Amino acid sequence: MAKRDYYEVLGVNKNATDVEIKKAYRKLAMKYHPDKNKDDKAAEEKFKESSEAYEVLSDKDKKQRYDQFGHAGLEGAFGGGGFSWGDFTHAGDFSDIFGSGGLGSIFESLFGGSPFGGRSRSGRSNRGEDLQINISLTLEEISKGIDKKIKISVKDVCDSCNGTGSADGEVKPCHQCHGSGQVMQTTRSLFGHMQTVVACPSCRGEGKIIKNKCLKCSGEGRVPKTKTINVHIPAGVSEGQYIRLRGQGNRGKRRGINGDILVLVHEREHNIFERNDANLICEYPISFSQAALGSEILCPTLSGKVKMKIPSGTQSGKVFRLRSQGLPHVNSVYHGDLYVKVLIITPTKLNSEEKELLKRLGKFDSEKKLRPEKSFFSKLKEFFV
Ligand SMILES: [Zn+2]
Ligand SMILES: [Zn+2]
Repeated sequence: MAKRDYYEVLGVNKNATDVEIKKAYRKLAMKYHPDKNKDDKAAEEKFKESSEAYEVLSDKDKKQRYDQFGHAGLEGAFGGGGFSWGDFTHAGDFSDIFGSGGLGSIFESLFGGSPFGGRSRSGRSNRGEDLQINISLTLEEISKGIDKKIKISVKDVCDSCNGTGSADGEVKPCHQCHGSGQVMQTTRSLFGHMQTVVACPSCRGEGKIIKNKCLKCSGEGRVPKTKTINVHIPAGVSEGQYIRLRGQGNRGKRRGINGDILVLVHEREHNIFERNDANLICEYPISFSQAALGSEILCPTLSGKVKMKIPSGTQSGKVFRLRSQGLPHVNSVYHGDLYVKVLIITPTKLNSEEKELLKRLGKFDSEKKLRPEKSFFSKLKEFFV
């Protein structure tokens, strides 16, 4: 099934304000709330679909990418499997709907499962943090794609305690939740009093208490380590896109699971080319005689110089297109083009011989030879007639 338009999902138009978008989402979230639609798969899907749409349209950056490129613009924004509840960052903004326990409590209690990668049934949220790396690339690197090795400090398993966080291995079941990691909580919501299962506050959902914390990791079961990671950057990426390295981020506390690393792409300015999508633009200076007589120039491209013919009588500012000499489109065999704008340079330092030649040449100048100007004058005439 084709993915629905986010604006259509929320029932707002493209010019909707933040407030209108929020209002529209609130309405849908209440309508499709699982509390009102017990065991209704379709409602659950709608609940999720509208939450995804809100996640995108309430985020300036994601919204801009979506407006510009549609769903394709968000490729990678939610990881390979697309949007999941773990990507939803607004549960706190709607605590009257989602309950004070946030997303965790509603899904633990209502869907009886874990919509979050990494959360177990007991409500543990020992997923490590995502890390972000900025990577700065030249257009040459972008044109071919590149493998980079990056050093990064990542929290990884503490060898001292083998990731348990306990100095002596002694771990006791939590007295408050008796080891289940969950406690019942009554919360007030728009739908009245709700009994929800939330992570136990004493053990933070882990179900166990460490008596003597490992000194090396202060009981976290993880310590910072320097790692070298390999990142493959596909050809054709652009500023602001990112690559998600699943499971390579910080390890969760006490044998939790790993977060991701997000590699954010930055594009370095090039001293010759300007980029416009997959197309490149450059200026190339030529002399008056090259322009008048025609010539062949060696034009720079990202993969070396290529011959380009300048026809005789070329005017300054004329743009030539070199097909497929631009950047590749991401995940495609097609390339953009290179646009070369030729500029006729007037010499500033002339020796006496050159001056003499130009003077002689000047004697041949007459209005009739300056055809562009002539047509300009005739246009003016037409204008005033
Ligand atoms: Zn330790
Ligand atoms: Zn507990």
